[in-house]
Amino acid sequence: MLGYNARMCLQYDLHSHSKASDGTLTARELVERAHAAGIDVLALTDHDSLDGLAEARAAAAALPLHLIAGVEVSVTWKGQTVHVLGLNLDPDDATLRAGLDSLQAFRDWRAEEIGRRLDKAGIADAYAGARRLASGRIVSRTHFAHFLVEQGRARSVREVFKKFLVNNKPGYVPGQWAALDETVAWIRGAGGDAVVAHPARYRLTGSKLRRLLGEFKEYGGVGMEVVSGSHTTDDMHRMAGVARTLELRASRGSDYHGPENPWVDLGRLPGLPEGCVPVWESWDIPRAAPADRLQS
Ligand code: AMP
Ligand code: MN
Ligand code: MN
Ligand code: MN
Repeated sequence: MLGYNARMCLQYDLHSHSKASDGTLTARELVERAHAAGIDVLALTDHDSLDGLAEARAAAAALPLHLIAGVEVSVTWKGQTVHVLGLNLDPDDATLRAGLDSLQAFRDWRAEEIGRRLDKAGIADAYAGARRLASGRIVSRTHFAHFLVEQGRARSVREVFKKFLVNNKPGYVPGQWAALDETVAWIRGAGGDAVVAHPARYRLTGSKLRRLLGEFKEYGGVGMEVVSGSHTTDDMHRMAGVARTLELRASRGSDYHGPENPWVDLGRLPGLPEGCVPVWESWDIPRAAPADRLQS
């Protein structure tokens, strides 16, 4: 394996989850696995939570791996849920923390409501089950999905979402997440860069996507994920074109949630397509490598 400095460029993965939200690895396990997979710069971006960052930072300190403090904020834009990453931010920023607290309060209420609705649909104890599977404060639909698979209600997480947890299904609860402008303001206020996550996944028409990204840029958003674990090769090239046209920076992230999802792994993403300006271009990433990496 090439050393940290000897490689042409550092390997970035700027989207990942730990047990602090709906990932299945602890923050420490995630960081160690990212290092083993050849990642040099990793962003931990749990849903609406900064709780894994201290542990991730401590784990990264023992490795030649640079940890980027991040978060994936749940946003409602024109009735649709959109995810916005805050990257390279100050996790102690009080306004950001207060904003995320308000989202966690909505999440807590929503989790109870999902439980009540599933109960009416004949599935008992789902709230308690999801709570048991969630190790952090964040209770996500993923935890409900794991519980329902455990109960034999479906064969896979994907199937649970389709049958129970999306719009017009018994366990779906509509609601308002953060507004796009306030989300970008929280991220910028904490010194971070705001990046729209997996833009191809929202199934927006080309013009609606450009509207979303145009508004986002007006509010001070700087980038969008071009290379993502949930993008096809075709999505990636399309999103590279959108990023170039709208002069948004490009990000690269696996959206890794743990080894149970083998189709999204760490360290396997393609590089950014030609002509993309990396979101990390303006960051100060230390290039000095500890001796063990240089010798490997
Ligand atoms: P929540 O933020 O609690 O509404 O949960 C959203 C999370 O559920 C996403 O971040 C994904 O990890 C997961 N998710 C959403 N849709 C699906 C799906 N169709 N199949 C599997 N996981 C999904
Ligand atoms: Mn998730
Ligand atoms: Mn997401
Ligand atoms: Mn994610």
